[in-house]
Parts: sequence; C-alpha cells; structure tokens
Amino acid sequence: MRVVLMGPPGAGKGTQAKRLVERFGMAHLSSGDILRAERAAGTELGEKLKSYMDAGELVPDEIVVEIMAGAVAKQDPQKGLLLDGFPRTIIQAEALDEQLDRLGLPLEAVLIIEADESLLVERITGRRSCPSCGRVYHVKNIPPAKEDICDACGVKLIQREDDTETVVRQRLTAYRSQTEPVIEYYAAGGRKMIKLDGAEPLEEVAEQAAEALGLSG
Ligand SMILES: [Zn+2]
Repeated sequence: MRVVLMGPPGAGKGTQAKRLVERFGMAHLSSGDILRAERAAGTELGEKLKSYMDAGELVPDEIVVEIMAGAVAKQDPQKGLLLDGFPRTIIQAEALDEQLDRLGLPLEAVLIIEADESLLVERITGRRSCPSCGRVYHVKNIPPAKEDICDACGVKLIQREDDTETVVRQRLTAYRSQTEPVIEYYAAGGRKMIKLDGAEPLEEVAEQAAEALGLSG
C-alpha cells in the first residue's frame, strides 16, 4: 500500500502515521525526520538545506524533491510506503508521481485528516512538555496532576516556541495556501481520497483509516 498522509498541523498526523506503520509494516517516510537527518549528516544537500533553514527561508522544491526521492529509492517497494509531510507543493507531488510511475508503483490513496482551525489552535497552544523527560501534556486534555508540573519528574513544564497562537496561525495559513492545492491535484487526478475527522478520538481515526485503506483485520 502506497499512501500519502496529509493534514494541517495539530490534526494528529504523526500519531496516525505511527499507528499505521506499527500495525501494517509499511515504511514511514516523514519529511521532517528525513530532512533533519540529511542536515545532520552534513552532506552537500544537507549543507544547502541548512543554509535555507538558518536564513529562515523556504527550502526550494528541487532540494526537497531530491532528498525525498533518495529516501523513496532506498525503500523496499513491496513493503509499502507512508509519506508524511511530503509532498507539500504541486511541484513536489508531480515529482513523486513521476518517480513512482517509473518504478511501476503508483500512489494508491491519499489520507487527509481534517479538523477545524479553532480545534487545531486549541490543541497546539495547550501543549506543554517536560524539559527533563520529554513527556507531553495538554492543559485541558492530558493535564498533569499538579498544574504545570511533570508527574514523573516534578519539573516545571514548558511550552515550545512554535506552539504559540501566532506561529500556529502562520502554519495553518501556509498549509492552506500551499498544501490544499496538492489535495485538489490528487482529487483531479482521480486518486482514492480518504477523508478522516481529526476531531474524533485517535483510536477512532486510526480504525477508520485502516478500514478505508482496506487494511483492517
Ligand atoms: Zn518529566
């Protein structure tokens, strides 16, 4: 099964990707992880990536495509693929289609986790984490026993800089302008589009995803 997983920040993509991969064994290609690893490895591409990221500029499509194509090429095609965070633009989507078509392994489905903006903002801005053990809380949904204190270590919880409302709204705007056209691209191309309700409990969404992909059981 070759699937692209899409959805705005805060929709629970990471969690769903993890579950699908654990249950069905496809390779999980998270663009965030792969780009970070490339950067850390200090390759020529990694250095280019770093220069854009450090300058706070958008990484050009051709660099993202080259790195992700390399990651796709390393996978065993029989195992299946779950792409997460890529493609993020139409140029990236076209490049991925070309590569998979060349391999004779076209994309089979597009999973889209949808959720209201207000819910996403609430989820992200309520996140707190422990600087010591890394455990993640939410002020409303997963509160610690004692306000702002880690249950495990007794350390004061922190909020990541990226999790403020201003940053979240910027990321949502970027998602709408760049990535929603990718969803339209896939729909126009006659792909199997599977929409999931990100407001539902995680277990429920995971079940729906597996069923829609014909993977349950
Ligand atoms: Zn802790």
